[in-house]
Amino acid sequence: MRGRTPTSAPATAGEIFRLVRDGVAGTRTEIGRETGLSRTAVAARVDRLLADNLVTEVLGAAATGGRPAARLEFNSSGGTVLAISVGVSRSKVAVCDLTGAVLAEDVLDQPASVGPYRLLGDAVTACEKLLLSGDLDDTGIRGIGLSVPGSVDSANGWSVGVPSLPGWERVELPPLLTERFAVPVRVDNDVNVMALAEHAAHPDVDDLLMVKIGSGVGAGLVSGGDLQRGAWGAAGEIGHTPVHDGPGVGCGCGNVDCLEVLASGAALVRDLAAQGRDAHTIADVVALVKQGDPDAVRLVRIAGRRLGEVLAAAVNLVNPALVAIGGDLVGAFDPLVAGVREAIYRRSMAAVTQNLRIEPGLLSGRSGVMGCAILVLDEVLSPTSIDGVLSRV
Ligand SMILES: [Zn+2]
Repeated sequence: MRGRTPTSAPATAGEIFRLVRDGVAGTRTEIGRETGLSRTAVAARVDRLLADNLVTEVLGAAATGGRPAARLEFNSSGGTVLAISVGVSRSKVAVCDLTGAVLAEDVLDQPASVGPYRLLGDAVTACEKLLLSGDLDDTGIRGIGLSVPGSVDSANGWSVGVPSLPGWERVELPPLLTERFAVPVRVDNDVNVMALAEHAAHPDVDDLLMVKIGSGVGAGLVSGGDLQRGAWGAAGEIGHTPVHDGPGVGCGCGNVDCLEVLASGAALVRDLAAQGRDAHTIADVVALVKQGDPDAVRLVRIAGRRLGEVLAAAVNLVNPALVAIGGDLVGAFDPLVAGVREAIYRRSMAAVTQNLRIEPGLLSGRSGVMGCAILVLDEVLSPTSIDGVLSRV
């Protein structure tokens, strides 16, 4: 926006909103200076943003001897977005404000194997209850962000490949939500949206690798400040990379010794149960580690080493500043990260590891829904979308 030349098209209301939201311009005078628009043209556009609740006007402190200048601010409560984060064993729904902060949330305690029609139907009902309990109006909903644990064609919202979830492959998901809420829907992979949320929580980091280790294993990559989805939306599918010294366990993908069959939360449940431990869920594995069970600690550390082996190649390739680890197994962070560090430091170049941070994600259990909110907010708060909405009223 800065450096706008006199020959370029006049700034739209959506572009002015972006200036206010990013803190580039806060008064009508500053907006005029940034855009080259006349006072009347600025006023007309600002009035539309005020009418749509996207900005508010607050009186600033009076300059000495002068009138107080009215400042425009982004109105984070000028609407809501719905966030639905589908997981293999349970899902989360939330109502968020226009910064992505969670206003109300709930857990759907059912496996995604019930299929997209039933699960998203129940998610819609859960969203309705959250709106009611928060005394929030349907009309304020500006969009819905949805994540699924598989590859997604994010341009049109089709789930492409969800190997662990029969019934979810090649389903057009947005219509299952827009039937009830007629707003824009954005769909992406579960780890991709976690990467978006962690990126927002680490504004100083432009290159980060988000790793989710739960029932499966996956990664999301933010490079140069942008989420990288890859050519077919499958970037970060590290779970099906084989490790070098595995015992020969077959994977559903047809390969042998994939990271996911050896080092996921599900694999640890299987291995600890085989050793006679009372382990049925990932939470049981985390509990055993916290009790100091030597086998649980050892197996989680080995899983971390295998994860680190695969991550080492990624770290060499993309040179992230931060590897953020999330997912249900993050509760066993200490032995897990000890294994990850051991493998990464042994296998990656010093140039990429000397300042590398490997940390648990900052948002713990909330990165899924917050990421879904950020995903759809990036869309519905873009200048083009705002101009589209304002032109209809
Ligand atoms: Zn595999």
